[in-house]
Amino acid sequence: MLFFDAHCDILSAVTTPEELFSNNNHWDVDRALSNGSFVQVFSLFAEGKDSNEIKYKMEKQIDLALLAEKNYPDRIKLIRNKDELSHFIGSSESKKINCLIEAEGAEILGDSLSELDRLYDAGLRILTLSWNYDNAVCDSIAGNNRHNGLSAFGRQVVKRAGDLGIIIDVSHASDKTFSDVAQISEKPFIASHSNSRSVCSHRRNLTDEQISCIAKGGGVIGINLCPDFLNNSGNADIMDIIRHIEYISALVGTEFIGFGCDFDGIDNLPAGISGVQDTGKIIEALLRLNYKEYEVKDIAGLNFIRLLHGILTA
Ligand SMILES: [Zn+2]
Repeated sequence: MLFFDAHCDILSAVTTPEELFSNNNHWDVDRALSNGSFVQVFSLFAEGKDSNEIKYKMEKQIDLALLAEKNYPDRIKLIRNKDELSHFIGSSESKKINCLIEAEGAEILGDSLSELDRLYDAGLRILTLSWNYDNAVCDSIAGNNRHNGLSAFGRQVVKRAGDLGIIIDVSHASDKTFSDVAQISEKPFIASHSNSRSVCSHRRNLTDEQISCIAKGGGVIGINLCPDFLNNSGNADIMDIIRHIEYISALVGTEFIGFGCDFDGIDNLPAGISGVQDTGKIIEALLRLNYKEYEVKDIAGLNFIRLLHGILTA
């Protein structure tokens, strides 16, 4: 069954293309493909006080992904447009991983809208508006409410992203940023790696209203495996993952749910999950419940694929 993971931080944990194929982190190509067909969103991610330094590190990570694709074309392929996505769906190359590039924080833009166009040309297809810092585009849920939501520049960025076919991601955004995006976005938007705040009260999770809003717009929510976002106790297992899926399904339906596992972006994993090789266990747990097989396929990957079909250009 095709698995689509909308968030992984492995690019910030390795320095060479070869390390992507096999390593001791949560995620590598060999283990991702051990369960079958797999699409991975690679996050560009860096911590730091200086936004120029963050941008520099993120650029290095995009270079690493491009180098991996160039040096190992039979093992790794970046999806840039609808045709490439269709080709992937129609093929059965089990040794190749298909990927998309996402930036975790608009720091990568500096303060220039034309950077969005340049990054699009380089392969960027998803923009997570912020990480844990307020930036030139918007406020983070962990920030200081610098702009009270989206800045004027942020509004231009959301609009230009829509024109280019870059998906806007509101995971980590402040609640006011979320509502500003919901108000102005003309395209479906996603929360790539966030859960339900009703099930687990962490601020990184989504309120019922936000979940309904994403679904109404045709977006998708990627379930995050971070134990702190799964269960208020901070201890979680596979059933906690299922609990968030159950809750969101009951609220809006199975067609708006996917996965954004956050491998190599989180310190701990739920009991029973040691890395990407164990994503199949979550799917098996879903199949044992009352879901129809097509619904499990949707959650495992097809909901995100459908979203991409609607937003990527030909
Ligand atoms: Zn994150």
